Amino acid sequence: MFTLFISDLHLHETRPQITRAFFHFLHTQAVGAEQLYILGDFFDAWIGDDDDNALNADVAAELKKLSSAGTQIFLMHGNRDFLLGEKFAAQAGAQLIAEGTVIDLYGCPTLLLHGDNLCIDDKDYIAFRHQVRSPQWQQYILAQPLAARRVLAAQLREKSQAMNSLKAEDIMDVSPAEVVRVMQEAGVTRLIHGHTHRPARHALEINKKSAERIVLGDWHDLGWAIVADKNKTDLISWPL
Ligand code: MN
Repeated sequence: MFTLFISDLHLHETRPQITRAFFHFLHTQAVGAEQLYILGDFFDAWIGDDDDNALNADVAAELKKLSSAGTQIFLMHGNRDFLLGEKFAAQAGAQLIAEGTVIDLYGCPTLLLHGDNLCIDDKDYIAFRHQVRSPQWQQYILAQPLAARRVLAAQLREKSQAMNSLKAEDIMDVSPAEVVRVMQEAGVTRLIHGHTHRPARHALEINKKSAERIVLGDWHDLGWAIVADKNKTDLISWPL
């Protein structure tokens, strides 16, 4: 009986070794898991569930195998794959969950975030996020033909080098005050998120209780996951 958390795989056709490593993870570490939580930036880009590229279909098929074997799979949007929709989730045998979902993790209420909403000191990014997360913008984009969305995605990638970099130094870290605020608001003493590409465990205090923020790593040289059961919660990594 255990639960897994991963994020920031940034799956993309140009990184086939990461896809292979993910499938290996599904066939080994994930076997027998009660739940698998994928906390955003699972895909490096997502232009709509109707995108017919082979990578998306292969990933859906592999997730579906795990879900058919009895593991519940949950998907949360990141800042790269926020257009991921119900159609893909159904193909993968997964459920989409909202940013800020609180789960009972073997008795510990745990707040789940991708983490980009914690980086409130990056004003340009927060403005961009506000635009791309609005239902109007998303409906407008998804109504465009696939070819036009591919062009738009390429333009967005070119627009800001830093915004598309996977290097931690190009991603702003979280605001410590915002971390405390969201944890207090959610009434939790544990937070799990990714996004910053700065994997670590941080001890802090929330409402005079000891608390913890666990940050997942991005999959590059190492794979990262949190493995939780009723006795422990481990942040693990392994070479890819
Ligand atoms: Mn991210």
